[in-house]
Amino acid sequence: MKIEHFPQEVQPYLIPQPSGEYVYQCFGCNQQFSVGSLFYTCPDCKNVLMIRDNQWDRLKLISGRLWRKIFDYRAMLTAAPLKGIYRYHELLGSVLPLDSIIYLGEGHTPIVEANSRLRDWAGFRFWFKNDGQNPSASFKDRGMASAFSYLNFAAKSQGWGEILAICASTGDTSAAAALYASYMTHHVKSAVLLPQGKVTPQQLGQPLGSGAKVIEIPGVFDDCMKVVEYLSENYPVALMNSKNAWRILGQESFSYEIAQDFDYDVEDLVVVVPIGNAGNITAVLEGFLKLYELQIITSLPVVVGVQSEHANPVYLYYLEADPGKREFRPVVVRPSVAQAAMIGNPVSMPRVVRLVEKYREIAGYKGVQVVQVSEQEIMDAMLTANRNGHISCTQGGECLAGLRRLAKTGELSGERGAVLDATAHALKFAVFQEKYFADDFEPAFGVVPKGELRNAPVVLAPPDDMATPAVGRRLKATELQLFVEHSAEQIAALLGLSRLSK
Ligand SMILES: *Cc1c(COP(=O)(O)O)cnc(C)c1O
Ligand SMILES: [Zn+2]
Repeated sequence: MKIEHFPQEVQPYLIPQPSGEYVYQCFGCNQQFSVGSLFYTCPDCKNVLMIRDNQWDRLKLISGRLWRKIFDYRAMLTAAPLKGIYRYHELLGSVLPLDSIIYLGEGHTPIVEANSRLRDWAGFRFWFKNDGQNPSASFKDRGMASAFSYLNFAAKSQGWGEILAICASTGDTSAAAALYASYMTHHVKSAVLLPQGKVTPQQLGQPLGSGAKVIEIPGVFDDCMKVVEYLSENYPVALMNSKNAWRILGQESFSYEIAQDFDYDVEDLVVVVPIGNAGNITAVLEGFLKLYELQIITSLPVVVGVQSEHANPVYLYYLEADPGKREFRPVVVRPSVAQAAMIGNPVSMPRVVRLVEKYREIAGYKGVQVVQVSEQEIMDAMLTANRNGHISCTQGGECLAGLRRLAKTGELSGERGAVLDATAHALKFAVFQEKYFADDFEPAFGVVPKGELRNAPVVLAPPDDMATPAVGRRLKATELQLFVEHSAEQIAALLGLSRLSK
């Protein structure tokens, strides 16, 4: 739709101009640092940073009602930079001029309601928000769109030369980083560090296909993270992990979209996310808090974080109800099908602690909950979901397993239902489905396949003396007829079909 056709009231706001004053703010000592250069941790106290807009209060001069209208009407614009996460430009990157925004089709992923059978199984009404329908097939693209748009802007405005974008990854961060880096025409090279054998073949193929330098390291993600942190402290590289506060900013769009999907009425709604490095839950909490501050929403949804029993440091931390007695201890992870969240020492833990406290001040103690689930529950939930029309990855299965556990306790309020983050596409995690179907899990996973959830292809074997088709060989018409009839009869018998009467 053309701008002149929009209501007068929203016209001046439709195309945002760069505004605000962004700084990195330290979570430890509150010092601020200019976003003119790349910072990941506070140079003084080494704590993690968040991006703050020192002119945030200017946004309060616009009413919540008008903001809602602006975001809704922007959805009808055809301007590419505003088609993705930057529909919410003022909330997550207002200093960026539109011509530096990198848009590869990320964001605005569908929410799909569970059918009645799956709802009954879960014991709760819910929707999956399919973040696997992002360009690299995971939610990480939201954060990468932000981090690379910033990089693009900073490189141009500061005259930076060649940039090396680097990250450690459980598989999806590297796929997203490599994809966005490959789009940039400014001199950006990318290198990704992966724990050897701990990402799926699809996830390994993605950065290779995008032309990144892929480096496999022994150990688990936490070890890769240490190496990449050392590199970023001692060499001129752009760190693309969620330690990079721009990543968090972009991922806030997940909350904004949920609010918009529910016409900004998120009262009694539950939002469920898996927790790995805890960047995602940080962004989701921060996103809803920002909407609440601007009165774009008037109440906060309940946020539930889910972890596997095999990688549960955040769950263990919140087991202690008394904040004064809580003590964070990293855990040594065990093999998990929720491999993208298989992290024992989440980088964003300080952010989570602070934001949960802030969120609970407004939404109450139960406003944020953390649950853990078994590997068995994750697999059963993912497969059950996908047998009911979804495309959930194992981490989405983890969300469903968490919801089901909470629903059973009867303590989860949320009359409206729950939105579950299906963080990646099922296809990325096909190896775990294969292990389940083949009853091939290593004992450390502790997963025993349920017969009713298993599936396998049936191979038709024609008799030895029958001519069968093959690549590059043409059957005679009579041979083909024989083959077709024989195969069809075998299939009809297999499926228990009875012949039509003629
Ligand atoms: C990265 C990732 C997670 C974990 O998110 P964090 O921000 O690290 O907590 C979960 N699921 C998928 C598919 C991921 O790629
Ligand atoms: Zn500091």
